[in-house]
Amino acid sequence: LVSREAKPQDTVVHAGPVSVGGGGFTVIAGPCSVENPEQMLCTARWAQRYGAAILRGGAYKPRTSPYSFQGLGREGLELLAQARRLTGLPIVTEVMDSSDIDLVAEYADVIQVGARNVQNFSLLRKLGEIRKPIFMKRGLMTTIKEFLSAAEYILAGGNDQVILCERGIRTFETATRNTLDLSAVCVLKEKTHLPVVVDPSHAVGNRRYVKPLARASLAVGADGIMVEMHCDPEKALCDGDQSLTPAEFKAMMEELNAMTALRRGWLA
Ligand code: PEP
Ligand code: MN
Repeated sequence: LVSREAKPQDTVVHAGPVSVGGGGFTVIAGPCSVENPEQMLCTARWAQRYGAAILRGGAYKPRTSPYSFQGLGREGLELLAQARRLTGLPIVTEVMDSSDIDLVAEYADVIQVGARNVQNFSLLRKLGEIRKPIFMKRGLMTTIKEFLSAAEYILAGGNDQVILCERGIRTFETATRNTLDLSAVCVLKEKTHLPVVVDPSHAVGNRRYVKPLARASLAVGADGIMVEMHCDPEKALCDGDQSLTPAEFKAMMEELNAMTALRRGWLA
């Protein structure tokens, strides 16, 4: 069901009032984690002011260490809903456990499947049964074929509103957090009708490299990007090193907007 043979025309995913796929370039931005009301609402305001279309923020965090901040859970979802009321932007947030799907679906416009859960097949089956868009990250060690096969689980359940996200894979290279596989965007755009978004933040782990790779994502033909942004990255409880400041986000948006007009020509 995910293949171009099954469906030649691009799928457009509807995230609240926002469309992802079908020729546009959608910017998703927000903090790694929802931390507290001030942090979430302040970051949300900047994201909206500088042109993000969708707001992100994790309430359930897949942390490597059990002693790291694990997210605010339901309270985080409440703050995301508050940020949506404030900005009018739809929200995307991660679900880690099948037992939280109903709760997360009550709040989220789009449900995120994290890189570490992309082959959690029982979770994927359940997400196929609901009628909410799914934002699916590629796993750290997932081939493109396996990634598409994971998406197939959701479509097989009757939910065709799936966005794929390349977020860097693990290689021998240690200079960046992961290695951004931009060629995956070309391959995925050829093989599937589903929208393909790039997350340069988790790919590189360093805010200095986010802007150039955001430009590259637009140039290569991605349907959008997801970037982490924080009103005060130094104080972030998670992924501060890779989070853009509001000023950096603004600069990135200006460059992307300038490139968008050009892109219409070369993608035609
Ligand atoms: C995230 O988006 O904050 C996240 C945890 O991403 P990933 O699953 O790609 O590591
Ligand atoms: Mn993060």
